[in-house]
Amino acid sequence: MMKALEKSRPEVGLWQVTAPVPEIGPDDVLIRVRKTGICGTDIHIWNWDDWAARTVPVPLITGHEFAGEIVELGRNVTGLAVGQRCSGEGHLIGRDSRQSRAGKFHLDPATRGIGVNEQGAFAEYLRLPSFNVVPLPDAIDDEIGAILDPLGNAVHTALSFDLVGEDVLITGAGPIGIMAAAVARHVGARHVVITDVNPTRLELAAKVADVVPVNVAQEDLGDVKARLKMREGFDVGLEMSGNQQALDQMVENLVMGGRIALLGIPPGKSPVDWSRIVFKAITIKGVYGREIFETWYKMIAMLENGLNIRPVITHRLPADDFAQGFEIMRSGSSGKVVLDWS
Ligand code: ZN
Repeated sequence: MMKALEKSRPEVGLWQVTAPVPEIGPDDVLIRVRKTGICGTDIHIWNWDDWAARTVPVPLITGHEFAGEIVELGRNVTGLAVGQRCSGEGHLIGRDSRQSRAGKFHLDPATRGIGVNEQGAFAEYLRLPSFNVVPLPDAIDDEIGAILDPLGNAVHTALSFDLVGEDVLITGAGPIGIMAAAVARHVGARHVVITDVNPTRLELAAKVADVVPVNVAQEDLGDVKARLKMREGFDVGLEMSGNQQALDQMVENLVMGGRIALLGIPPGKSPVDWSRIVFKAITIKGVYGREIFETWYKMIAMLENGLNIRPVITHRLPADDFAQGFEIMRSGSSGKVVLDWS
């Protein structure tokens, strides 16, 4: 038996339970989980909002951001070893769709998520298809390994467009926005401006990366452009907040022919000034998950090459104190919260 965090009932909260250690199939591995990250998705599941109630079966062990060690191999598994440290892609893909068969695994419409549709990683043990396992080099310790999933979102979004020498605007200074800012810096953007209305988050952003934090409740982006001596506007926008005003400000402050990657999810339908986007000839790309496994390759290479995201982890707690961890996350002012299962 093992310790796990479960959505046991269709109501607010998560509960610590004793559950059977998962049995693995011939193509799976069993992972002893060491560290897990709490994600915004987990907060939706904790809060049991409309999305969670529609999506998550009950009971379910939640959690999808993890690092651990392989302790058992299915009989068909090759190329992995017991004792190997790993993280892994939490999207379990189908193999039949057009995109999947074309090798674009992250675009498979039949994707199921661990901790959302299938048993998750907030547990001492996790079953994962060996295909999804990503071995960790020694340079990446368990707490960084536990946040590769959201770093992957940040990297996938940031690398959607060429950032070399570009001026980049990031709206939303949550952990993923902050990590995207660090990535933009790392790959050679000129100015990286990150906006929010939460001073704590902006402070954290400035601690993690060499960026210009802007509180848009107090300062106008037009003034920021003048201060940075930008002639026309930002070349690339990374929208991480799902906030309507943030998108409007982004469109307003982009150059003609600017490019936007959208990761933030608006709460519902939101009005967009499409004529502005047409006349500015703006390209918009929706971003989902990580490119499997290209994003993983790139982010591990960048971490080995000096990308430092560690300060984005603001809280480290034993798994038994999960309720406190969720409380910190729900405050909206924290960076990443990592739970220790060892
Ligand atoms: Zn996540």
